[in-house]
Amino acid sequence: MLEYDAIVIGGGVSGLTSALLLAKRGLKTAVLETNPALMPLIRGFTRNGVHFETGFHYSFGLGEGEFGPYAFDKLGLDLQPYPLLQDGYDEIYLPTGQCIKMAYGRDRMEENLARAFPEEKEGIRLYLDRVQAEIDKSAFLNMHKGKNENAFPNILVDNTETLRSALDALIRSEKLKTIVAMHSWLYGTPPSRMSFFLHSCTVGGMYNGAYGIVGGGRAIARAYEAALEKAGVDVFLNTKAASIEEAKESGKKIITAQNHIFACDICVASIHPKSFLQIAPADVYRSGYKARLSEIEETPGFFILYGVLDEKIHLELSNILLINRYIDDMYAASEQSSSYCVSFSTASPQAVCVLAPITSDEKIWDRNAPDYYAKKNAHADSIKKDIQERLPELANHIQYLDASTPATGCRYLGYSSTYGPMHDVNKTAVLPTTKIKGLYLTGQSIVTPGLLGAIIASLFVDRLMDGR
Ligand SMILES: Cc1cc2nc3c(=O)[nH]c(=O)nc-3n(C[C@H](O)[C@H](O)[C@H](O)COP(=O)(O)OP(=O)(O)OC[C@H]3O[C@@H](n4cnc5c(N)ncnc54)[C@H](O)[C@@H]3O)c2cc1C
Repeated sequence: MLEYDAIVIGGGVSGLTSALLLAKRGLKTAVLETNPALMPLIRGFTRNGVHFETGFHYSFGLGEGEFGPYAFDKLGLDLQPYPLLQDGYDEIYLPTGQCIKMAYGRDRMEENLARAFPEEKEGIRLYLDRVQAEIDKSAFLNMHKGKNENAFPNILVDNTETLRSALDALIRSEKLKTIVAMHSWLYGTPPSRMSFFLHSCTVGGMYNGAYGIVGGGRAIARAYEAALEKAGVDVFLNTKAASIEEAKESGKKIITAQNHIFACDICVASIHPKSFLQIAPADVYRSGYKARLSEIEETPGFFILYGVLDEKIHLELSNILLINRYIDDMYAASEQSSSYCVSFSTASPQAVCVLAPITSDEKIWDRNAPDYYAKKNAHADSIKKDIQERLPELANHIQYLDASTPATGCRYLGYSSTYGPMHDVNKTAVLPTTKIKGLYLTGQSIVTPGLLGAIIASLFVDRLMDGR
């Protein structure tokens, strides 16, 4: 039996953030990760000598004086964010062919949208004002508040106004509503179920600045590895936690799939909440809450095509977003993708990824089903055809190498959705505390998904340990 003060289950962004924070407290800490390398979601992969991004493309909140650099510094992560193209970090194409460039900086954003929708000028101004007011309320985006330890974070307050109702009150055009709601991509919850507050804190953050990180997801993984080594955290790879048991005097035992036992006082699980329920002691939550948790709907999955560009075109752009359906339907978790995101990587200029939301239903994307590969190929072909029709100049320069389905995520991470459970204003929130002292849940399901969402969740859990 190996003994530690603290064990973290899962070596993604949130798990490793928790491990660094526990080590900072002077606790002997270990991380258990089921995959052969840390950060399997963020790290990306290499095919035919070309590196592809998987779980990190871009982010808000990484500018000077913003939350990202503050957190990187606190965690000892050597990461260099860089700003994406200010006049068009994303280009959004409506089904009509109309293209809207997403610019950041309040004035540019307002000008660009008002140029495309002059009749909505006032609504656009009010929408951007309201988004900024929500950001200002948020302790983690408003760094003035963020540095005030007591104000951090105010994320779990009751925010029941939906993005859809806020937009309906301000804007008439369905097209414009679709454009400003387009980035529900970043959290996977449709506008009628997403809180306006959380939308503002994530998507609204992009209106102030969109950033990449030099070296991409691979650099993030390496920065965490270096910081863990410096902090003296032990890492156990190929180690799957199979059950958590309570031991004497508030201790815990983590039993792995290989039947190794890790004893600890504090355990932070950064895995999907439903996976957590399967391995945690039966009385980890009250029964009513547990039942509600098991009913939480998953965010849609992503079907992703990976290709190489035969020459350097469009490389100054971050993303091209192609919309097939309007507003709520645009992020519907159906078997047909309602939109695509063509994403380039400055860390790997030859690589292109086409991401398409699709149902994350494991019965539909089952690798063992006899028609799995036929279904996968058919879906890949339909996306390629659409890209060819809508972006012929780009499509002619892409050679596709591979594709992944929601089942690919399930194989590596244990869940097939893009961001785990939906952050639905009408449903029970996933709580980080449990009935068992010293046993916590962290990760993208606690606050919001994304690199920063996962970091914030673990900073939040760290504060809970002090009773704050
Ligand atoms: C296609 C895609 C694109 C994305 N693009 C962006 C982007 O551009 N910007 C952005 O900010 N965010 C993006 N995200 C979201 C972001 O990657 C995630 O929100 C974030 O990485 C989640 O981190 P996490 O630690 O909460 O979860 P995870 O990364 O899922 O970490 C959980 C870890 O636990 C491990 N594990 C599971 N079960 C066990 C077990 N029983 N024992 C031990 N280990 C276990 C898993 O292998 C995994 O490593 C994207 C996500 C996807 C899928």
